[in-house]
Amino acid sequence: MNLRDYITEVPNFPEKGVSFKDITPLLEDPQGFALAADQLLDFTEGLHIDKVVGIESRGFFFAPLLAHRLNAGFIPARKPGKLPRKIHSQEYELEYGTDALEIHQASISEGDRVLIHDDVLATGGTARAMCDLIDNLGGVVVQCNFLIELSFLNGRDKLEGVPLKSLIIY
Ligand code: AMP
Repeated sequence: MNLRDYITEVPNFPEKGVSFKDITPLLEDPQGFALAADQLLDFTEGLHIDKVVGIESRGFFFAPLLAHRLNAGFIPARKPGKLPRKIHSQEYELEYGTDALEIHQASISEGDRVLIHDDVLATGGTARAMCDLIDNLGGVVVQCNFLIELSFLNGRDKLEGVPLKSLIIY
C-alpha cells in the first residue's frame, strides 16, 4: 500500500471548508506506521542531530521514535501553560487570533542541531514559530519534516532557508 492510502480525508472538519487529514489509520496499521517512520528517518540520512522537537500534539506520535532512532533527545513543544519550569515562548498568528508554543529554556543548548517534526505543514505558521523559538535559544534547525504537506497553502514560503521534507504532498 502507498503511504497516502493510509490517510483519511475528512471534509469540513473541524470547520466548514477544511479537509482534515486524519492520520490515525496510518498509526493503527503496523506496516503503515513502520513505513512512515522509516521514510522520515531516511530524510535525516547524513545529518547530525542532537535534539528532535515534536509539536503538540500530533507531532508527538513520531518525534520520540525519530529521537530514539537518531540517538538524540526528544523535546515536546507544548501549548501554553503545560510546562512547569522556566519556559521560552513563541507566539504565532491563527486565522482568528494567536496561539503560542513553549519549550523549557534548559532544553536547548547553544549550537544544538535540531530536527523539528509535525504531522502536517499547512500555512507554515506553526513551523515558522518553532524555528524562530529554536533560533532565539541558540539552536540550529537542520531540518523540518512532516508526514503531510498541503502545498496549495504555500507553507514552504514561510520557511525559506530551512531544509524542509515531507512524505505525502497534496
Ligand atoms: P499551519 O500552522 O497552518 O502550518 O498548521 C499546521 C498545524 O495545524 C499542524 O500542527 C497540524 O496538525 C494542523 N493542521 C492544519 N491543517 C490541517 C489539516 N488539513 N489536517 C490536519 N491537521 C492540520
